[in-house]
Amino acid sequence: MLIRLYSALCSHFGPQHWWPVTKEGDLEPKYHKKIKLNSRQKLEICFGAILTQNTSWKNVEKAIIQLNKNNLVNTEKILKISRKRLAKIIRSSGYHNQKAKKLKNFSYFLLKNYNGNIESFFKNDIEKLRKELLGINGIGSETADSIILYAAKKPIFVIDAYTKRFYSRFFDEKKDLKYDELQEIFEKSLKKDEKLFNEYHALIVELGKNYCKAKPLCEKCPIRKKCSYFRGSVPNLAKARVSSFRPTGYAQLTGNMGHEAPCRSFLF
Ligand code: SF4
Repeated sequence: MLIRLYSALCSHFGPQHWWPVTKEGDLEPKYHKKIKLNSRQKLEICFGAILTQNTSWKNVEKAIIQLNKNNLVNTEKILKISRKRLAKIIRSSGYHNQKAKKLKNFSYFLLKNYNGNIESFFKNDIEKLRKELLGINGIGSETADSIILYAAKKPIFVIDAYTKRFYSRFFDEKKDLKYDELQEIFEKSLKKDEKLFNEYHALIVELGKNYCKAKPLCEKCPIRKKCSYFRGSVPNLAKARVSSFRPTGYAQLTGNMGHEAPCRSFLF
């Protein structure tokens, strides 16, 4: 079911091309269809993963632009700048004093243990990466896994509040699943593939932002036909035979199936 859900979401929203990064000469992070990340961009993703804790990407984007303007996507410079000044620069991301400290903690870790070389750090396997990231003060599971998936490009499934909300509604999961439990469900049900995990998480975020909100907009949701929450709230539909699980929305409305190949390539 989880892979079919992926296909339906991808057909509806199209590939998301996460994580946005800044190209040389630019100041603003953008989504790129195909990009081979350089070390600076990988570090920018790590910083972005820390900055995005408890805030929207829009606010993070502004903070990253400021970091770029001040040439601060650099571990040594992050350590040199005063915490107060750094906090002011990343103010838009919220909790800026705490986050300035976290950026410094991460930079210190990288400099102390890997001579500031992010490529050497990312040569570690997922288990070691995760253990070391979780050992840094201020980095929790979601941040660590986002860094491993989007910067190190290694297959680990990121769980966030959107994933928990959609999963519990869709599958009528009454238990308050812990981060690791939900991660295991996704990882055991899907092919361990970095690109699939990357897109899937990005699509769940899109679903959460557009439809599966705190107050869900089920009527227009592309996966409503198989959703326990929706089916339970519409008695007639619960009785109806819903034999096929077809993507709705973008693919059907426009007839533009141009992006369907990557969406379906993980069906097996
Ligand atoms: S149908 Fe409603 S509850 Fe189900 S996933 Fe969509 S928005 Fe969420």
